[in-house]
Amino acid sequence: MAPPLAAPPLTEKQERLLEQLRQAKTELTGQQIHAQLRQSSLPMGLATVYRHLRQLQQRGLLRCRHLPSGEALYAPTERDEHHLTCVDCGRTISLESCPMHDVHLHGDQLQGFALLFHTLEFFGICATCRTAQANAQAATPAAAAQQDIDNH
Ligand SMILES: [Zn+2]
Ligand SMILES: [Zn+2]
Repeated sequence: MAPPLAAPPLTEKQERLLEQLRQAKTELTGQQIHAQLRQSSLPMGLATVYRHLRQLQQRGLLRCRHLPSGEALYAPTERDEHHLTCVDCGRTISLESCPMHDVHLHGDQLQGFALLFHTLEFFGICATCRTAQANAQAATPAAAAQQDIDNH
């Protein structure tokens, strides 16, 4: 994908961060990237890592999503991957394919934009948490009392 603007070339550190995220099979947090770089020939401070991640994001090369815990996960934008996240336990799984694959913006909708990437996230309550919630509800005194009333 050609850059849409005559942006300045990436710095060595930005190249390294991007390369690291491209080689990773999964999304990474800033902390994980920082920890991996500590062993490399180009270590960076955590603040530097976050600054460059933000700059790469502004250039449309990285995207970032936040888990219910507040943790931010980074991935290269060319990886068209979407997730389903449980708001209760925070479990997050990736979808097999992009549901937006055949969705396109046309003419007027684009309003002159050159598109770089899209994001899409689903949130819900996972099967494990739903079972746990159902069991907890059945075990509360209020539910038991209600059942008692229903039985009379
Ligand atoms: Zn859950
Ligand atoms: Zn997609």
